Amino acid sequence: MKTIIEPFRIKSVEPIRLTSRPERERMLAEVGYNLFGLHSDDVLIDLLTDSGTGAMSSHQWAAVMRGDESYAGSPSFTRFEAAVKNLMPFKHVIPTHQGRAAEAILFSIFGGAGKCIPSNTHFDTTRGNIEASGAQGDDLVIAEGKDPQSLHPFKGNMDLDKLEAYLQEHGDAVPVVMLTITNNAGGGQPVSLENIRGVAALAHRFGKPFIIDGCRFAENAWFIKCREEGQADRTIPEIVRDCFAVADGMTMSAKKDAFGNIGGWLALNDDDLAEQARGHLIRTEGFVTYGGLAGRDLDALAQGLSEIVEEDYLRYRIRTNEYIVERLDAMGIPVVKPAGGHAVFIDARAWLDHIPPLQYPGQALAVALYEIAGIRSCEIGTAMFGRQPDGSEKPAAMDLVRLAFPRRTYTQSHADYIVEAFEEVVAAKDSLRGYKIVKEPKLMRHFTCRFEKL
Ligand SMILES: *Cc1c(COP(=O)(O)O)cnc(C)c1O
Repeated sequence: MKTIIEPFRIKSVEPIRLTSRPERERMLAEVGYNLFGLHSDDVLIDLLTDSGTGAMSSHQWAAVMRGDESYAGSPSFTRFEAAVKNLMPFKHVIPTHQGRAAEAILFSIFGGAGKCIPSNTHFDTTRGNIEASGAQGDDLVIAEGKDPQSLHPFKGNMDLDKLEAYLQEHGDAVPVVMLTITNNAGGGQPVSLENIRGVAALAHRFGKPFIIDGCRFAENAWFIKCREEGQADRTIPEIVRDCFAVADGMTMSAKKDAFGNIGGWLALNDDDLAEQARGHLIRTEGFVTYGGLAGRDLDALAQGLSEIVEEDYLRYRIRTNEYIVERLDAMGIPVVKPAGGHAVFIDARAWLDHIPPLQYPGQALAVALYEIAGIRSCEIGTAMFGRQPDGSEKPAAMDLVRLAFPRRTYTQSHADYIVEAFEEVVAAKDSLRGYKIVKEPKLMRHFTCRFEKL
């Protein structure tokens, strides 16, 4: 059979509300054309993020009931720890309430003024935690990773020459080398096993610990299996173990590739570092056997980790993105290629070239998608990054719109509906207009600013 189907059936459904276009136009005007201001029950298909929005399985809900809420030594923690160690063979596993809490603990140890921390691309919370400690984060992704049309199979790879030069130049100022798999801020593009090993070897040659930001480790392993020489016949857990075997630790958001609605962890091999991390954990998150989580969350994650590495799931997951990218590409819409693991990115600046960057072509597209079809996406461009620290404004590097897919939540007919919505946007394209921002806060304006249609 060649049709790739959703490898699950549905036991419990969540109704979604169909709204009319006049209703949506009214709601958009009310929230100043900022999609973050919408009530989610007024959204038909919500592609704002894949974080914490996935569907838990019946086995996970059963595990929730098994959860043990003892303050110390809960068997839920034992099951969680075993599930993590089964895939990521680290000595110490420290639960946290989500990924950024693991990062905050990590950089309370490794950060500080004058330090420099390289990665392929730091995710924004990672960068935020590095900078809050006084350190600086640097992105050393390969050049192909910044070219939306390059078909390189591993556009998330670290540039190893640049990393070597960086380690030579910054020497003792580098406390740790990071690598994000898949490269979220770079379009969900994967990192090859060869590159992971190359980064590890370089870090270790310079005496630096190597820490993986592993939020989408299973999607990354699937790309390795499909695209990397010699990996096709290996199982996903084998590939995952190989990825982490060369690292000294990891940070994780279990809201991504662990099928959690909440959760995360920090894992480390070094005993002294782990002791420092646990000290910080107890101060800020909770006791060492629950971090910031309930016992039932730990059990749901333990079960989720066994499901996320299933090949039928990963095939369906990655295929959905590829399908949408192929359809949009065929319509002549500029999309980031090849499709990433968790999201589809549209190059709104290239597509809506009659709207200048300072009139937010990404926002124009995101608003049109909601107005026309009730789909919520996310502008990643000049509205998000354009305001400069000195108060001036300039175009961001790119004006993208991201459609991020919650895990196991939507079906193929939703994918077809999304494609059809783009057909309507194609027809309306030339009539789409830019926006101006009429009210904005000082920081992170994209969450709360108000726009007016030009
Ligand atoms: C989501 C994410 C984080 C932060 O995790 P939260 O659970 O949202 O705090 C860190 N790194 C990457 C790559 C992510 O995608």
